[in-house]
Amino acid sequence: MLTATPLDDDHLHEECGVFGVFGHTEAAALSALGLHALQHRGQEAAGIVVYDGEQFHAHRGLGHVGENFSSKDVISKLPGHSAIGHVRYATTGAVAIRNIQPLFADFEFGGLAICHNGNLTNSYHLRRQLVRRGSLFQSTSDTEVIVHLIATSLKQSVEERMVDALRQVEGAYSLVALTQEGVIGVRDPLGVRPLVLGRIGEAWILASETCALDIIGADFVRDIEPGELVIIGANGVRSTKPFERMRRRLCIFEYIYFSRPDSMVDGISVYEARKRIGAELARESHVDADIVVPVPDSGVPAAIGYAAECKLPFELGIIRNHYVGRTFIEPTDQIRHLGVKLKHNANRNLQGKRVILVDDSIVRGTTSTKIVAMVRQAGAKEVHLRISSPPTTHSCFYGIATPERDQLLASRMSVEEMTRFIEADSLAFISIDGLYRAMGEKQRVAAAPQYCDACFTGDYPIALSDHDAGKVSTQLSLLAETA
Ligand code: SF4
Repeated sequence: MLTATPLDDDHLHEECGVFGVFGHTEAAALSALGLHALQHRGQEAAGIVVYDGEQFHAHRGLGHVGENFSSKDVISKLPGHSAIGHVRYATTGAVAIRNIQPLFADFEFGGLAICHNGNLTNSYHLRRQLVRRGSLFQSTSDTEVIVHLIATSLKQSVEERMVDALRQVEGAYSLVALTQEGVIGVRDPLGVRPLVLGRIGEAWILASETCALDIIGADFVRDIEPGELVIIGANGVRSTKPFERMRRRLCIFEYIYFSRPDSMVDGISVYEARKRIGAELARESHVDADIVVPVPDSGVPAAIGYAAECKLPFELGIIRNHYVGRTFIEPTDQIRHLGVKLKHNANRNLQGKRVILVDDSIVRGTTSTKIVAMVRQAGAKEVHLRISSPPTTHSCFYGIATPERDQLLASRMSVEEMTRFIEADSLAFISIDGLYRAMGEKQRVAAAPQYCDACFTGDYPIALSDHDAGKVSTQLSLLAETA
């Protein structure tokens, strides 16, 4: 039997990335490049909508940005000076053409395309109310809930309707929208998900991360503030803060794993943060060893920080194959157990060494177990696993695809039990206060945490209305998914 195996199914996944352009003759091409830089935030589907002054044009497709937006033909069918784009990661069952963003709708005020990165935690409730009032849903995505809330709002302008809609939603989101007048960007009141503003020539850019500005040669202007709504049009950028003020709670996992290391998130270099996290981890979990080896690629900056702190050689003891696709068709049961070697292989320099292996997180523990075994088979004398996040004990409901809580290894095992399960000689995670120290804080302020860290602490900063009521927010549709 042929089986398609997600090779990275033992990591948490960012669910989406967003991009927007206003005022550039090559808005679609810039969007394609920007989305390419944001590919790590979603690999299942990509979409771009442009406005040419008279009409909106859209192209959306399953797969990587390059698979959908490489041809001149596609880009030439997307004329216009303003555009928004989206990359999406979706859990099984929700990958369907009709869910691919940006979504577009005709309203009485004109056309509107919209997409977001994040997750609404009361979308089931809102969707039910809307359906009872006559709204007809085409997709199962949260974004469409926002579209219908805008459609049913009694306010006048697009901006007022959007604010009216967003005041009803709970959740974490960074949103970009395309109207006939311009581009709108919004960050949720706690700023859980990032969003930045950039400039290239006279044009304005919105993007989930600064690496998407770099790829098009745009300058970073500033982060969009938590709870801020920016309206970008012919008169420049106008900013409002229409939501109740709240203490910011950026997702701390953006620094540990989700964002690209060459991005700046809320003024902090992701790469430098990861190195500091590695150094802090080394101070907290000293062990005698010969070399420090990262689990590539995400473990590399933390391993550099770890090795520098404990003055041990940093070695590439595991080599990653960069040419493995998102999935690999395993031809037979007999070779399925080789799966992990499709992506990683141990280097010969591990022979006889006491190895400190640095990775960013443990989710189900399956990959860690295989990698520790691989390092041992390569001749390592000892394998000490060090993790640059605290134990992931809770699921994320704010836009990160996480397994159910009982699938998270750290939710059902102590560190000692996990050490035995993974068959490492020792295992240590950075402490939650150590993580905050690495982020430049004295410690985590329990009464008012500086970041969202719910997957480590269970302290959820935004109400989980649907979850607490035992509702899942998506499947109201009886139409079978075909993609
Ligand atoms: S629960 Fe974890 S992954 Fe989700 S937003 Fe909070 S810190 Fe980030």
